[in-house]
Amino acid sequence: MEQLLEFFKPKRYQLELFIDKENDLVDGDVVITGAAKADKIFLHAVDMKIKSVKVNDTKAEFTHDGEVISLNAPFSDNVKIEVKFQNKLNKNMEGIYLSTYKHGKKIEKIVSTQFESHYAREAFPCVDEPAAKAVFELTIKLPEGSDDIVLSNNIVAKKDDTTTIFEPTPRMSTYLLAFVIGKFHAKSLKNAHGTLITTYAPLNQSPDSVDFANEVAARSLEFYDNEFGVPYPLEKLDQVAIPDFDAGAMENWGLVTYRESMLLADKTATFGTKKSIALTVAHELSHQWFGDLVTMRWWDDLWLNESFASIMEYMAVDAIYPEFKIWQGFFTGDCLSALYRDAYFDVQSVHQDVSSPAEIATLFDGAIVYSKGARLMLMLIRAMGWDNFKKGIYDYFKRYAYQNTIGDNLWEALAPYTDFNPKEFMHAWIDQPGYPVLTDGEQQRFLLDGEMKPSNWPIPQVLDDMSGHYVLNLSEKEFTEKLADFDNLSLEQKLRLLIDRSLLARTPLCASASLLDLIAKFKNEDSAAIWKIIISIISNLKIFFDPDSDEEKMFKKYVLGLISDKLKEVGLKTRKDDDENTVRLRSDLLALDFYAEDRTNLTKLAKLYSDDLTALDVETRSDILDAKLYLEPAMLNDYLKKYQAIADPEIKYDLLYATTLTKDEKNIDKLVSLLGEPEIVKPQDHLHLYLYLFRNSKARAKAFEWLKANWKYVEEMSGDKTIDSYPRYMAGVIRTTAEAEAFFEFFDQFKDQPVMARTLKIAHKEINARLALITSDQKDVIEKLKSCA
Ligand SMILES: [Zn+2]
Repeated sequence: MEQLLEFFKPKRYQLELFIDKENDLVDGDVVITGAAKADKIFLHAVDMKIKSVKVNDTKAEFTHDGEVISLNAPFSDNVKIEVKFQNKLNKNMEGIYLSTYKHGKKIEKIVSTQFESHYAREAFPCVDEPAAKAVFELTIKLPEGSDDIVLSNNIVAKKDDTTTIFEPTPRMSTYLLAFVIGKFHAKSLKNAHGTLITTYAPLNQSPDSVDFANEVAARSLEFYDNEFGVPYPLEKLDQVAIPDFDAGAMENWGLVTYRESMLLADKTATFGTKKSIALTVAHELSHQWFGDLVTMRWWDDLWLNESFASIMEYMAVDAIYPEFKIWQGFFTGDCLSALYRDAYFDVQSVHQDVSSPAEIATLFDGAIVYSKGARLMLMLIRAMGWDNFKKGIYDYFKRYAYQNTIGDNLWEALAPYTDFNPKEFMHAWIDQPGYPVLTDGEQQRFLLDGEMKPSNWPIPQVLDDMSGHYVLNLSEKEFTEKLADFDNLSLEQKLRLLIDRSLLARTPLCASASLLDLIAKFKNEDSAAIWKIIISIISNLKIFFDPDSDEEKMFKKYVLGLISDKLKEVGLKTRKDDDENTVRLRSDLLALDFYAEDRTNLTKLAKLYSDDLTALDVETRSDILDAKLYLEPAMLNDYLKKYQAIADPEIKYDLLYATTLTKDEKNIDKLVSLLGEPEIVKPQDHLHLYLYLFRNSKARAKAFEWLKANWKYVEEMSGDKTIDSYPRYMAGVIRTTAEAEAFFEFFDQFKDQPVMARTLKIAHKEINARLALITSDQKDVIEKLKSCA
């Protein structure tokens, strides 16, 4: 179907909703004024009862097929349509949905919204397309006696016992409208530019858990005000943690909603969690400009929002908290995952055509759209310079504020400030998948699943830092020389040297066995970022060893030998004067230590356990929990009880993760049964639990049997949003022919479903490439390992 905007262009919505969360009822009345550009007009309206329709105050005939309302209207620049409708609250984290949690003995209910990408149409009749920007005047009515807080995009204009009327929103897209109804702890502060920032947490969370997010939000908005030159246009910004949340966060203009773990930091929060909260908040707030103020015309350019926000989050956090050394996380996280994912022939390009918004979820490969997109943005920013980039961005915001754009509008706005053509440059990188490997100045597309062929990506200047999305294939001589000079390289040069090598080792260009010699050189390394890459190399090597084999035991011993001196140096416990690097390093080394099943240290860690989990050393809490349960599998029930009782999202996550490491058969059965108990493990956490079990070699077969038997259940729970994440991440674990056959036998039945097609195609390639690598390199790796022992 054509886009509905071609028939009717809404200017203003007066939306009144009566919401009774106890009786699961939404009763609505929407008056839409706008321009009719045909004699027939259409409104999106999904899964709701349409009670009546009026056109220019006269009762009108209409049809409703469950998705779209069709009616006749006069050609006019000023048509008024009124629709009365009735609806229920969704339970699946989209549209207007109900979220619940336990507070003491009571079940508390929160009503929240998630309209991106195309769920506003499940809430009220509208033209639910990003280019259909309009002003929204929202009124929310609650039943008599309700003492809930009611929030929306803008400030409250008027309020009485049951009715809250909000100030009209700026002109914006339907997917950005939002409201939240419930009881919360809240704290406010005004930032230096006068914006009032308030962060809300459910009642079972600590009131102080909002402080950090408030601070990040205040300073991020100041940062963007200054850097973008266009001030944040609303008077206030609210941030709310919602106990059931599908994604990580949602950038609704003026009312950003978050998964609890992405917003709330109590004094029990680790440094790592604070960093991820800072990045998430900074990401969402950059969307207040890029996405909210200026919005893509259609969903095919959604990557533009996400790539931009994914690089701005690092810019902002680095400026606000330089001590976080946040770029290191970008290089060892986003860059690495983009390189690994983008190395398969059929992977999606950053920009991808989408005809229906339902396809968006299927095209949202995070490693590509967020991580690769961000890296390409960084490549562009570094090539033109941040100050020049800012000038272009300023022009772009000025020109397109409250409007819609396509990618080319941005490249054209940047063009006056570059000495190259940003449009040509970015199209070459964004419209096709992949990246090159450079050997003696010659380019080939780097592939793990096929023959590399000459390629022609534009590269302004080949650099050996982390800016460029390519792999440098150094000659053995060059590589050895650089390695000998390692101490004199910059951190980015060091990271590139190791990252490129780890990628090349997955191809015939470099032998896997050589990685064992390589990592041995880093025993004394102090940088946590370098260790991160060493760890990823170790993970790559794990595939060569059968679980519980003598070879695997030998490898674990090898890993222990590699880390033990460094771990002794940093110690098992947090020390007062630890810097950011030490905290990160200890945590990574302890994870390796657990992998190596180092009983001496596990025993020491387990001794630090206390029944009061909030009393544990914050930074090593998860290691203590892992160790304790490893040594005392009978603790499982105690862990699960605590998991249900504790509200702190991070401790909950630590507990759940620890349980999934178990090797005990009975424990595994118990955990697999939890996959079907949404009362205990919320649907928002199902994928995590599932994948952690699947990664555990002892639990893998049982987890897979469960998935096959309960696929319908998983489908219903995931909708079209995350279902492809299951095979996507499972494919990353499979390492034997038997596992591969079982995987394909089940998943191939879905290979023609649009939601699954691409993911399954790449899963085939990824698994086959891994099996081929094991066949070709296993013998040498094991021999090399024996010679190291
Ligand atoms: Zn985003």
